[in-house]
Amino acid sequence: MGNEVERRYWLARGFEHQTGIYRVLEWVADGYCAMDWREAPEIPVGLSPEAARDLVRAEQPGWSESKVYRVTRAVQSFVDRMSEGDVVVAAKAPYDVHVGVVAGPAYYVETRDRAFARRRAVNWLTVEGDEPYPGLPEEVRAHLKARPTLTLLPAGAAAYFGRYADAAPAAPTPAPAQDPYRRLCRAIKADEAATRLRTVERPATVERYRDPRAVEAVLERCGGRCENPDCGGMPQDTTVRGEPLLEVDHIDDHASGGRDHPKRMIALCPNCHAMKTRGARAEVLRERFRKVARKAHKRRLAGEG
Ligand SMILES: [Zn+2]
Repeated sequence: MGNEVERRYWLARGFEHQTGIYRVLEWVADGYCAMDWREAPEIPVGLSPEAARDLVRAEQPGWSESKVYRVTRAVQSFVDRMSEGDVVVAAKAPYDVHVGVVAGPAYYVETRDRAFARRRAVNWLTVEGDEPYPGLPEEVRAHLKARPTLTLLPAGAAAYFGRYADAAPAAPTPAPAQDPYRRLCRAIKADEAATRLRTVERPATVERYRDPRAVEAVLERCGGRCENPDCGGMPQDTTVRGEPLLEVDHIDDHASGGRDHPKRMIALCPNCHAMKTRGARAEVLRERFRKVARKAHKRRLAGEG
């Protein structure tokens, strides 16, 4: 390829800092890569470093100058230095390495909590994830465990990942518009499969986390209403953000193994939630809600709700 020399190789971290959730499977499914740094505001493409630092300072007046400098530089690497045709490597050593080619300029999307809001279109090619990636130079291997959100990989990366990038299609496959509920459920399922793999390999290191995507999906599904069909009436009051008072409940206790999936979860108003957790009919309600949640999930996937 003619532009082989100029092509750069970037390592993008797909772990959500707060929860440790790995988001790369969503990137691959929807044809993009993303950068988090949600504490920093949107920084438009082509802004001067000085102007970009002003935006960051205005958003985070408490930050030291060196932090402002470092974060702005990291975000601008993603927004401006990364070029179309560059290669992105997203790795979760030792299980999977995804390689893709940047196919478009940076854009910004509104996401919950501004998580991974900075994005670029990427043509992803999944690479088999068998450690220890035979032939991967040691200097590159060391980088796969790097902490920064975006790292320029050393020259050795080209020899290893270049062959995959050469095979990438020229134009991105446009991601089909996806119902948010369906998209969240698919991502959760993909992650569950990856977790099972980890559980088999490293039982001692697996911790249970609450998946914010599952909560988001249930709130999306319920449309702002308590999902108990026999709800006696929701409280008139709202949250400080003006949203209905709803709690997303794991029907079977999450800590003792209840699945972190929307079809096992239900949105309840505070009254119904209390009846289900400490009411006299708690067991009956639990049994009933299992069915309600399963039905609501099916109905939603079938596009009826
Ligand atoms: Zn209710």
